[in-house]
Amino acid sequence: MSRNLFQVWSPARSGKNLKDKLRKNSQVKVHLKQIPPEGLHLEGEEDCLIPELETEGVRCLGAMQYKIDIGVSEGSLWANGSLKQPIELTCVACLEKFVYDIKVPAFALHTELHGPETVNLSPLMREDILLNLPAHPRCDREGGRVCKAAAATMAAAAETKRKSDWSALDRLKLKK
Ligand SMILES: [Zn+2]
Repeated sequence: MSRNLFQVWSPARSGKNLKDKLRKNSQVKVHLKQIPPEGLHLEGEEDCLIPELETEGVRCLGAMQYKIDIGVSEGSLWANGSLKQPIELTCVACLEKFVYDIKVPAFALHTELHGPETVNLSPLMREDILLNLPAHPRCDREGGRVCKAAAATMAAAAETKRKSDWSALDRLKLKK
């Protein structure tokens, strides 16, 4: 039932134009006629929706994963569920790359239907993915590891403290 619901449209596959190949994403489209009155639960994967961000240091590491419930009622389409997009980010502090999952835990939409039999969910999914993209990624915060830059700062702070402890001791000695 759900097999043909999401149709991937990709000029890279259908066209022979090299320029198209370079820059159009596939689309997540829903065919309304195939949604039963009780709605549908869908799980699957689609092409990464933000491939163009690679030039800004955000690299897709595989497909976008979705789990959504979708249905039609009273002339409108609703959907809710979750999205996940694994990516590679660059830490703003140490400049090292790390892996991160962009998660959209509450993807939701409710849109009125005007005629067309297919609805393209890609722009809405893409928007939510972008909203959950860390603006200043840090490998210790988003990547769950020790940031080399932060570790260096802490070591420097410890060194400063050690030196001031010694100078306090030195002052004590001078007083004698
Ligand atoms: Zn870092």
